Amino acid sequence: MSRDSRQILALGKDGQEKVKKLKVGIVGLGGLGSHVAQQLAYLGVRNFILVDPDSVGEENLNRIVGSTPEDVGRLKVEVARRTIIGIAGTDPVSINPLNRDMRNREALTSLSGCDVIFGCIDRDGPRLVLNELAVTMGIPYFDSAFGITVDNGKIVEAGGRVVLVSQEGPCLLCCKEIDCDEAAYDLADPSEKKVTLERGYVSGAEIQQPSIVSLDGIIASIASTEFLALFTGFRHPVQCSYYDMLRGELLPLSNRVIKGCIHHVFEKGSLQSIFRYSI
Ligand SMILES: [Zn+2]
Repeated sequence: MSRDSRQILALGKDGQEKVKKLKVGIVGLGGLGSHVAQQLAYLGVRNFILVDPDSVGEENLNRIVGSTPEDVGRLKVEVARRTIIGIAGTDPVSINPLNRDMRNREALTSLSGCDVIFGCIDRDGPRLVLNELAVTMGIPYFDSAFGITVDNGKIVEAGGRVVLVSQEGPCLLCCKEIDCDEAAYDLADPSEKKVTLERGYVSGAEIQQPSIVSLDGIIASIASTEFLALFTGFRHPVQCSYYDMLRGELLPLSNRVIKGCIHHVFEKGSLQSIFRYSI
């Protein structure tokens, strides 16, 4: 019996081998990203690019899987690296932990060499950049997001979604999954940001949002399952999966490429257009 024997029963030997050979980029190693890293490591992925500039804070201990109170102040990419190495055991692993903003040139270049990217971030600026990177470089990109709205101490809206962006298919702009005002704010330089904030053009910027580990886990599990569908071929991956936490429902949706969508017009295979976002 090998550690993968029960997965091979489900995914086949070829499917398992495919998963093992992939180089996976994960952007954001907080609640969502830590679950994704953990699941991919158990699934047999051994080659990772991990991108997150932040350290673990006290307020993250409720949802970064693998984290302990001793990790406060430690880089999130280092906590994820430790989790992956712990799971891999004696298997050789290649992990490149980049504690940088994803718009850093080294991060963008490293991500452009991945076979697949997971976006586990909560802002639409980096989401827009990853969307364009995926379409331009032809890298499948799983974008995960969640939200919980609380009114008068009661949850009135909660859920999340996973969108698979590919070169041929619709992107996040086609699916209207990017708030362009929020993205413009995120990608602006500090002086522009200050003016935008003072004028109240962007709400929710840099404000802590409600979060629950179980919702992160569901969304990350959907992303990991669609990843398996894409690479092992047990079925076609769902392009958009929406989870409604209040109704307990998972809805698969499909979208079309919108004619004139700007992210489909850049020269394919060139990082140059992406570098205009670099900092
Ligand atoms: Zn598009």
